[in-house]
Amino acid sequence: MKLREYEGKRVFAEAGIPVPMGRVIRSVEELGDLSAFGEEVVLKAQVDVGGRGKAGGVIICPTAEAPARAAALFGITIKGLPVTEILVEERLPIAHEYYCAVLIDRSTRQPVVLFTEAGGVEIEETARTDPDRIRRIGIPPLMAELPPFAVRDLVGRAPRALGPVVAALYRAFLVKDALLAEINPLVVLEDGRVLAADAKVIVDDNALARQGIQRNRDLTEREAEAERHGFSYVELDGEIGVVGNGAGLTMATLDLIEHYGLRAANFLDVGGGADRERVAHAVRLLASSPEVRVIIVNLLGGITRCDEVALGIIEAGVAQRVIVRMAGTNEAEGRALLMEHGYEMYDSMDTAVGAATEVRT
Ligand code: GDP
Ligand code: MN
Repeated sequence: MKLREYEGKRVFAEAGIPVPMGRVIRSVEELGDLSAFGEEVVLKAQVDVGGRGKAGGVIICPTAEAPARAAALFGITIKGLPVTEILVEERLPIAHEYYCAVLIDRSTRQPVVLFTEAGGVEIEETARTDPDRIRRIGIPPLMAELPPFAVRDLVGRAPRALGPVVAALYRAFLVKDALLAEINPLVVLEDGRVLAADAKVIVDDNALARQGIQRNRDLTEREAEAERHGFSYVELDGEIGVVGNGAGLTMATLDLIEHYGLRAANFLDVGGGADRERVAHAVRLLASSPEVRVIIVNLLGGITRCDEVALGIIEAGVAQRVIVRMAGTNEAEGRALLMEHGYEMYDSMDTAVGAATEVRT
């Protein structure tokens, strides 16, 4: 789960990383007395999207104009998301912007620390145009601290005051069970002080309970239902519902849907060994979304038996058209049951998804 910027900054502050003075408001009235901020303030929309600055979500303005600018910011959406919280911060006299991040490198399966002098801008851009400017060091996961030589190599000729922040960011990453801890920009002020001007922290969803973190978003009715049944379930904004077993098969189905110019409304991974009852639950859950016009069931029979799946689909008895592709254990029995009840079944994923193209019109 991605923490909001102010939550990330709290994590940083606990780890000993200096952050700008600031507070979160949920309405213009909460701005209150701003005299402590001086001549200028920064208003930062707390929305969970990248590139917020470019999209008008970061405003630097005279303190006197803050109420009007905050009111305007509360009134807009950024990449479709309404602004419900604004972080009000002191304006920093920035001399230089750096970038520092700790993340999991999936290829080496260990944390990697990145640092570059080219901060502030989008790191993806630097990675493309000037990859040599990003220094990276992989760290064996059992290291509780960054060794001093690693910190020195990362910071290079940049001000030494950045070193302790890099070390602290690595500690925060470990302690918080993070998948990513990123400071962009990590700023050096005109007087030499170092601060995290922005914060992006993603905590591993599997660690939320241990971290005592509440999801910062309410689940929809269907998401809550899926969680109760232990289904992996995701809502999108198309018109096709997808049931698969296993993440790979489910993703492959979504790719095919995209390939055919269709759009998924939601998808659900029933997991291994799904019986009739589980399949019926899954199909009903997808079908309960008003957006879903067709349901594609794409399952591989292993421990899962195709005849059980067929019975589940029949039991669900949903109003929408259900297109089935199944292969494996008891496939023939499953097919016979489906045919008997007037359902379509295909041998290949390709033809199954292709058969759904008529919803386009
Ligand atoms: P992002 O666009 O969502 O990543 O938002 P950031 O917090 O990174 O802010 C975008 C840019 O605003 C930074 O890269 C800075 O260059 C600029 N900026 C200028 N002055 C300030 C300041 O006082 N505080 C902060 N946070 N950003 C500032
Ligand atoms: Mn940023």
